[in-house]
Amino acid sequence: MTPGDRADLAERMVPEACHLAVLVHDADADAVAAFIRALDPDCVPALLVVLAALVPVDDRSPGDLLAWEASVPEAVKWRQMPLMAAALEPCPSYAAYRRHKTRGEDAEACGCGDAAREVWRERKRGKQQRGSEAA
Ligand SMILES: [Zn+2]
Repeated sequence: MTPGDRADLAERMVPEACHLAVLVHDADADAVAAFIRALDPDCVPALLVVLAALVPVDDRSPGDLLAWEASVPEAVKWRQMPLMAAALEPCPSYAAYRRHKTRGEDAEACGCGDAAREVWRERKRGKQQRGSEAA
C-alpha cells in the first residue's frame, strides 16, 4: 500500500470514525456493537488511526476528554497523556502544523504552513497520478 493509498483509506475512514463517535456518545451498546460487527476488518487499523488522530493531544487529561461520560473509572480520570516534548515532531513539519492548528497557534512563522501545503500538494499529485493510471 502506497502512502497515497493509506491517505485515501484514512480519508474514507473519517465519516466512519465520526459515525462511531456519535454512536459512542449518543447510542446504546447494541448500536455500537452492530457498527463494529459491520466493519470491514481490513479497515479497522485505518479507523483506529483516524480515531486517534481525532483525539486532541494537548494538556487535557483523558479524564478531561471523557468528562462527558459519567461512568469513567477513577484510574482513567487521573491518567495523563504521555506528552513528551522531545517526542513531538519539530517545526517545520506537517505533524507540527496539525499540532499548531489543534492548539490555535500560528503555523506560518515557523514554516509549518509551507510544510503542510507541500504534503497536500504531494497527496493531490498522488491522487491525480492514480486517477490517470485508472483511466
Ligand atoms: Zn511550527
